[in-house]
Amino acid sequence: MVLVPFDDRDGLIWFDGVMVPWREAKIHVLSHGLHYASGVFEGERAYSGNIFKLRAHTERLIASGRILGFEIPYTADQIDDACRAVVAANGLTEAYVRPLAWRGTEQLSVSAQQTKIHLMVATWAWPNLFGDDRMKGVTLDIADWKRPHPETAPTASKAAGLYMIGTLAKHTAEAKGFNDALMLDWRGYVAEGTGANVFFVFNGEVHTPTPDCFLDGITRRVVMSLARARQYTVVERHIMPDEIAKASEVFLVGTAAEVTPVRQIGDMHFTPGEVTRTLLGDFEALVRKSPAEVELLTAA
Ligand code: PMP
Repeated sequence: MVLVPFDDRDGLIWFDGVMVPWREAKIHVLSHGLHYASGVFEGERAYSGNIFKLRAHTERLIASGRILGFEIPYTADQIDDACRAVVAANGLTEAYVRPLAWRGTEQLSVSAQQTKIHLMVATWAWPNLFGDDRMKGVTLDIADWKRPHPETAPTASKAAGLYMIGTLAKHTAEAKGFNDALMLDWRGYVAEGTGANVFFVFNGEVHTPTPDCFLDGITRRVVMSLARARQYTVVERHIMPDEIAKASEVFLVGTAAEVTPVRQIGDMHFTPGEVTRTLLGDFEALVRKSPAEVELLTAA
């Protein structure tokens, strides 16, 4: 796969309140965010021109910044408008949307009280994370890297720094020939993928780990409400790795992953089945509805 570097593309990026040409959206190398990972971001998807669950993403972005001790200098309405404007300005209707807030150059030390907070929103066309083979299912390595204790890292924030753990886990998984890694938490419970939450089907019930030290994904909550609407029993609980073998189906959910079946975890094999297919279909139908309908259908 040939990747076009992200600074060698054209388009427009919303940068600190202004729409700038893609190639000019640059920052200084002495930015605090670059040295100390003092950034928070979102990953959103636009379907048929509407950004799915936009307000929930914007609220999580603002909350992520507050967890890191900073206030993004825009209101939720302004951030929503920026996201919609950048999708429209790039002439996209099916797109991935990436807002990022970070600390600037005013101070380059552990203390960062004087730094200004910047915000940018970029967007680009991006098909499903796992590509056309999605229904075949993806393979997951059980990572040695663990999701940390919430007193060790700001685990409820979608903070850039937390992704170093995911990159380490994913690189190890890829080197072994797996698509992604399944991460356990510091206690040994099943946590999540490197960029998606995980669901298991046990005896026809839909189970997912309690998000007490990793991201409570927006897609995760949507899929739980779709499962309840289908009268599936939905159980949020701590899941031990030795239970995985008893699952009849496993799938990942997330903005980038959408609903993606899992066919293998370590040396355990699974066949994508009825529950995964049903929820994948319901999710694909939901994302094409108007934002108002989406809110109504996922209120439960
Ligand atoms: N966990 C991690 C580590 C993620 O990066 C993501 C993607 N944002 C998720 C879970 C899923 O979250 P969401 O459904 O809100 O995209």
